[in-house]
Amino acid sequence: MQIGPYKLYSIETSEFALDGGAMFGIIPKPLWEKEVPADDKNRIQMVTRSLLLVSEENKIIIDTGNGSKWQEKFKDIYKIDLENLNLERSLGIYGFTPEDITDVYCTHLHFDHVGGNTKIVNGKLEPVFPNATYWVQTENWDLANSPSEKDAGSFMSADWSVLLENNMIHFVDGKESFLPEIDNHLTYGHTIGLMHPIIGDSTNKLIYMADLIPMAAHIPLPWVMAYDIHPALTVQEKGEILPTIVDEDWIIFFEHDPVHQAATVQFDGKHYRLKDSVIISA
Ligand SMILES: [Zn+2]
Repeated sequence: MQIGPYKLYSIETSEFALDGGAMFGIIPKPLWEKEVPADDKNRIQMVTRSLLLVSEENKIIIDTGNGSKWQEKFKDIYKIDLENLNLERSLGIYGFTPEDITDVYCTHLHFDHVGGNTKIVNGKLEPVFPNATYWVQTENWDLANSPSEKDAGSFMSADWSVLLENNMIHFVDGKESFLPEIDNHLTYGHTIGLMHPIIGDSTNKLIYMADLIPMAAHIPLPWVMAYDIHPALTVQEKGEILPTIVDEDWIIFFEHDPVHQAATVQFDGKHYRLKDSVIISA
């Protein structure tokens, strides 16, 4: 798919699984289980999915997934599996390597979004994208480096410390545009200062939903995660943007849905639902 100056590629970087109850907050299991089945540990199957935007000048990757720095204990808890899906292989399908990437757009600094920013080589942290500028929202940076008790388990400084040391991070304030033809939308319900890139042309408009709507099952307003720092605000923020998404037939990109790369949305007078699944790249 091409939008504006960019050719789009869906880059799946890992399979993993999180607790189904935590993923659907107050929604009772008999309801969410019909949409997404749980395993014997109550986990639901998910992926980390990056979006690669390629123009003449830039090769931009949006988020980088869980990465490869995991100890066995956590690999087991989160069922992190890089066998079938991983960054190198997914980039390689389209003829790209991590060295080609010019920009890494970090929506927010939770480990399943920026874990692939860095890797361990011979016991030392190294950038995965040695030639890239990493773009980070200042407000989220401040939270990530002094998280609350509830948040602390979601942030890992190994995902960015070596980037800071090497002056590879560029900080973004507010909604200012910092990459060509990419607008930024900000939300505060899931975490403070979550950046959503929006690209568009006369035919298509696409927004990268990150953790505002991580999977197709999260399209209905009250289906929000218990991980959110302000779940009621997440519901409000979904309610603010979904009417535009429906009216203008935007494509929403799913970072965590194992089935749908992206979709359009419909409103039946009562609920928002998936309209058509959209394939970004085959
Ligand atoms: Zn998150």
